[in-house]
Amino acid sequence: MPNTSTGPRQHPIERLGTPLSPSATRVMLLGAGELGKEVIIALQRLGVETIAVDRYADAPGMQVAHRSHVVTMTDGPSLRAVIERERPHLVVPEIEAIATDMLLEIENEGIAEVIPKARATRLTMNREGIRRLVAEELGLPTSPYAFADSLTGLYAAIDDGRGGGIGYPCLVKPTMSSSGKGQSLLRGADDVAKAWDYAMQGGRVSQSRIIVEGFIDFEYEITLLTVRAIGASGEVETCFCEPVGHLQVNGDYVESWQPQPMSEVALEKSRAIARTVTGNLGGRGLFGVELFVRGDQVWFSEVSPRPHDTGLVTLASQRFSEFELHARAILGLPVDVSLRSPGASAVIYGGIEARGIAFAGVADALSVPGSDLRLFGKPESFMKRRMGVAVANGEDITQARSRARLAASRVKPLIA
Ligand code: AMP
Repeated sequence: MPNTSTGPRQHPIERLGTPLSPSATRVMLLGAGELGKEVIIALQRLGVETIAVDRYADAPGMQVAHRSHVVTMTDGPSLRAVIERERPHLVVPEIEAIATDMLLEIENEGIAEVIPKARATRLTMNREGIRRLVAEELGLPTSPYAFADSLTGLYAAIDDGRGGGIGYPCLVKPTMSSSGKGQSLLRGADDVAKAWDYAMQGGRVSQSRIIVEGFIDFEYEITLLTVRAIGASGEVETCFCEPVGHLQVNGDYVESWQPQPMSEVALEKSRAIARTVTGNLGGRGLFGVELFVRGDQVWFSEVSPRPHDTGLVTLASQRFSEFELHARAILGLPVDVSLRSPGASAVIYGGIEARGIAFAGVADALSVPGSDLRLFGKPESFMKRRMGVAVANGEDITQARSRARLAASRVKPLIA
């Protein structure tokens, strides 16, 4: 297919153009946080013209893109207007809070190709959509779950009065939330009302639907980074990075490492689940499939149809990071998911509330053997805002983890 300057491509790009010229291959990131920033850098290296969109000015990805726009992406008409103005060939969602109905229209009208598919972004922005697909249509193992729209409904979902229901312990989460927001663990009936109130405050959009999930007593949890890319056959093929293990605190990732040791059986089950789920979502790109594991048992938890925060470790551990793999896959280029060496990542939180902060201790952090840093350049720091990440290589994951933790601990965010 010729590489024209206007109009969408419904197929992978066959030629790459020159940025800022009529031949340019244009890619728009919807969401320009730290993950989008790395995808943009990867695209820039391939000579792609990049456009960053986020809801606030000077977002990390905007600082490395050719152009940027501040847009309320949950507002359909505003989203459509920026896409029509920029005419990107590919639209790449990096966050969940997007008017996904408008993305379906954009895709259906052939205005741009949505990565991986508009339906995937719609299903995964809502815990109910993806859970019903995975458990009820695809028949894959998940925690037991129910939905509720009221406090009374929540009580009934946990205990139906006939010895049934989800029971305790269980987790309550807003259906429209991510990263542990509004999520709580309930150990008994005394916790229900508080969990309901917390979920009502923590949802991404104002809505009152929650999911209640039975607690899975897993040994460890992984993200299986799964890539759907054009292979040697000329068709989309699925390949898997080595499993990423991670540690979550209050539903937010604090550390990750790769490769997570697993039994052969658990790894095969994980790959089968990831293949089925990503195959159903379709399109090209990298997906983060979150799974819980105990022995040889595996449960599906969630999927992101885009790079995953726990996959920041791949900046150190793989030949191509998850961001480079995503960039290649969406452009229709071949991928190589091989591990370079064991690695780990450790999050650097703001720890202060201020704009335009400074970071002390960077030289000390970088003197940790095998370490590297990403400071995201976010204009404003909050106590629990992720402002950077330390990554490190090691002879094994134990050494890599202690190096990453040490490097992260040496970076001190300060009021400038
Ligand atoms: P989520 O926001 O759904 O990704 O959940 C964040 C984290 O909470 C997960 O990575 C797990 O560590 C924990 N979690 C969520 N759901 C469950 C569950 N059903 N059982 C046990 N732990 C869970």
